[in-house]
Amino acid sequence: MDDVVIIGAGPVGLMLACELALTGARPVVLDRRAEPGDLPKANGLGGQIVELLDHRGLLERLSAGSPFVGVPPGFPFGSVPLRFAGLDGIPLRMLMIQQPRLERLLGERAAELGVRVRWGHELTALTQEEAGVTAEGAGFRLRSRYVVGCDGGHSRVRELAGIGFPGTTDDELLRLGHFRTDTATGVFEDPAFAGLEPGWNRTPGGRLLLTSLQPGVHIVGVREQGGREAGPVTLAEFQEAVRRVLGRDLPLGEPIWLSSTVAQARLAERYRVGRVFVAGDAAHLFPAGGSALNVGMTDAINLGWKLSAVLAGRAPEGLLDTYESERRPAAERALMQTRAQAALERLPGEEGAALRTLLTELFAYDQPLRHLAGLLHGSDLPYGKPGHPLVGRLAPDLPLTTETGERRVAELMRPARPVLLDLGGGVTLDHDWIDVVRARTDDPPADALLIRPDGHVAWAGADGLLEAVEEWFGQRSAGASRGGEPAQAGW
Ligand SMILES: Cc1cc2nc3c(=O)[nH]c(=O)nc-3n(C[C@H](O)[C@H](O)[C@H](O)COP(=O)(O)OP(=O)(O)OC[C@H]3O[C@@H](n4cnc5c(N)ncnc54)[C@H](O)[C@@H]3O)c2cc1C
Repeated sequence: MDDVVIIGAGPVGLMLACELALTGARPVVLDRRAEPGDLPKANGLGGQIVELLDHRGLLERLSAGSPFVGVPPGFPFGSVPLRFAGLDGIPLRMLMIQQPRLERLLGERAAELGVRVRWGHELTALTQEEAGVTAEGAGFRLRSRYVVGCDGGHSRVRELAGIGFPGTTDDELLRLGHFRTDTATGVFEDPAFAGLEPGWNRTPGGRLLLTSLQPGVHIVGVREQGGREAGPVTLAEFQEAVRRVLGRDLPLGEPIWLSSTVAQARLAERYRVGRVFVAGDAAHLFPAGGSALNVGMTDAINLGWKLSAVLAGRAPEGLLDTYESERRPAAERALMQTRAQAALERLPGEEGAALRTLLTELFAYDQPLRHLAGLLHGSDLPYGKPGHPLVGRLAPDLPLTTETGERRVAELMRPARPVLLDLGGGVTLDHDWIDVVRARTDDPPADALLIRPDGHVAWAGADGLLEAVEEWFGQRSAGASRGGEPAQAGW
């Protein structure tokens, strides 16, 4: 019997496979595609996933050759510009990377960790019994302890598990095209593009997006009221859509990829039914850009270590319920902000223009900008119960002086093990899973931090370390003490 069968070798399935393999489980990934795909869906990732990739040592690998990684100077929030340049201390980072490259690099990492990926395996049936789940399709039947559906918006796993997916489907179609251009300076130098701005342009017929994320390639988006299903698009259809919306032709250049999509806003009613889980697009679809991979890949990092801990007998089954209680509210927040973006982007007429102008003025102030940066980062809602301000949040990436040299918190998280970071509190802990690291840092935010394998703070230096250890990492502790004193009751 396998430990975990993951359905779907998209970015979320591959990320989960890497996390499981890193934390000691044996996953197998099934995908109905014959081979890795090359559809350039996402152009990048933004939010806490960028720091989490850094925790695993993957950021360097993924950002090689990237046109941009870092704090974005701005973000088009439903076509209202957010200007982050010059604002100190915002957590939001972005990494521009095209989805096929992201999937290829995650696939390479998974292979290094010994993950088995089976292409051409389409799941058609799932049966749950007390001790395991059976996943079946043409020519295969696999039994495992758990199944995770990372099989996208039309998830078969979600359907077979009987999980509802309520929400709405947009009545507008977005056609997207990537075009190669031979103008070194970009399309805006071409007189045919006169009167058009980078970003969304509104016309009586719809909206037209013009942007570029790499030299020599521009992206054109055309949004208009319904009329057809999402799917492949021919160049002639694309050109007709441009003509309808703009009232004239554009010299688009050589098409690299053309597609169309209809935005959906949906959230799975449950993330778990018994031994079956859903993650990524299978659990949530957002109607505006920028958050899908952040939320989806963070789902994978939240679930991976928990499944491994339960499989290894380190933690009780109940730990798995915290996946839904932590990640579904995060998706609700992303759904709220992407619905707001979609509404702002499409509101027509003078009223829509007035609202965008008013919000452009409000978003020029630091406080609303910081609030929106936290929302886009995906970390404005801490996991779990209120307590120390750091508990339930991603651990700050403090520069540390440790016994083995200068390190950052992110570097301690490479092996995806829990870390007790003693920042001068004199805490000791004897536990066979938790790494204890003593370090100095300027201005420590607490005497000590207990950090989960997914980088989130489980406990911060005050009373209750042993309770937190037991709650999250089981009772394999031979004791804890502070400042050289023996362990105290309640400490
Ligand atoms: C045009 C476009 C632009 C986008 N831009 C961005 C962006 O800039 N930033 C961002 O964050 N997000 C963006 N997204 C969204 C992002 O692409 C998705 O959120 C992401 O692909 C979700 O990853 P996933 O692994 O959950 O699912 P998917 O990528 O959909 O992968 C699911 C996998 O499951 C497989 N599968 C499905 N059913 C079965 C089955 N029955 N059996 C076996 N295998 C199965 C599929 O073949 C597929 O490989 C964009 C999407 C589109 C369409």
